[in-house]
Amino acid sequence: MKIASIQAFAMTNPLGVGPYEEENKAKARRPAWHQNDEVANPMSRYPRYKAHRSSWLGSYPAVGVIVTADDGSWGFGSSGYGAPVVSLINDHIGPLLLDENPLATEKLYDMMMRITSPYSSSGLASYAISAVDLALWDLKGRLLKMPVYELAGGPARDKQFCYATGNDTDWHMELGFGATKLACPYGTADGLAAINKNEDFVGKARQLIGRDVELMLDCWMAFDVEFAVRLAERLRPYNLKWIEDCLIPENMGAHRALRDRLPWQTLATGEHWYTPHTFFDAAKDRVADIFQPDIHWVGGFTACQRIAAIADAAGLEVILHAGMNTPFGQHFSYANTNTRWGEYFVGGAPGIPSERTHGYPGMAVPVDGYCVPSDAPGFGHGFTLDTLAALKV
Ligand SMILES: [Mg+2]
Repeated sequence: MKIASIQAFAMTNPLGVGPYEEENKAKARRPAWHQNDEVANPMSRYPRYKAHRSSWLGSYPAVGVIVTADDGSWGFGSSGYGAPVVSLINDHIGPLLLDENPLATEKLYDMMMRITSPYSSSGLASYAISAVDLALWDLKGRLLKMPVYELAGGPARDKQFCYATGNDTDWHMELGFGATKLACPYGTADGLAAINKNEDFVGKARQLIGRDVELMLDCWMAFDVEFAVRLAERLRPYNLKWIEDCLIPENMGAHRALRDRLPWQTLATGEHWYTPHTFFDAAKDRVADIFQPDIHWVGGFTACQRIAAIADAAGLEVILHAGMNTPFGQHFSYANTNTRWGEYFVGGAPGIPSERTHGYPGMAVPVDGYCVPSDAPGFGHGFTLDTLAALKV
């Protein structure tokens, strides 16, 4: 069997609520937290971009890829950052993989890493590699008529424990989650006031959920080492399971310094790290306890397998970034013994049922804090070529 075509295209993000937008308006009790709440971020030091991440993130569409084999079988993968990533796939990576065996995911991943090495396999190239790798795994599953989690050696458990992310904590409790993660509102840019206000914010959430629900804090690259240490020490009485993504991702020296200064605090990070090499360095220096690669950004299913193996050998845990929000992350988490938890970003407003907050026709959603992925062949995303064509932009 041979790869006959690899076609990338810009598309509406399937994580959007497009199909249910009108219906959802009536059900929302209040706007979702992320519509208005301030979230600390790496640009918080620049007042004109401080209040909302959307003011500087750019408005790139999502990226879809369809890999087609010479017998007409196809698989779908996705990633982000629109035109630049589409170009990397259609103008460089894709043509070089034509006529290769589509089932040879190890070889094809290695080829993609080497093809992109002159301009770095990190960053946007890693987004491109991810989309193609996910499409290849989907094709493999659909061709062999098996869910990807079985092809990858799973399932590793009966059902996947999911934690909720977002600041609608009351809604997370109503949905039945046993663990919830807050998006930290203030970072280094707000100084001592940020430490005081963050303490009030975390304290209120702890009071609401009680002591039998796990609580975590996502800091989205908005801290420096000094601020992270001071805030973690202030928050110690609230028993956070972990604090996350405190620092600018590339600054490994800062990650090592934070580890040295906070030996007692469980640290999670990695959603903005790319390639297994970075995770190997992080594991070697033990700069975090929990690795959080994003399967759509880090290099796809194959990269996540390598990262999970590195982490397992080092005695570290993997919890995919937003892993339970897509069929791809769900299958990986469910298959792997070293991914006991999964992150579910609660994007819908309080009152809107989880199954109405995404556009993947075949995807499972967490129920009472647990999720069992679709057992349909491939990733069970539920798209047809026609429904995918309709999402192109
Ligand atoms: Mg995060």
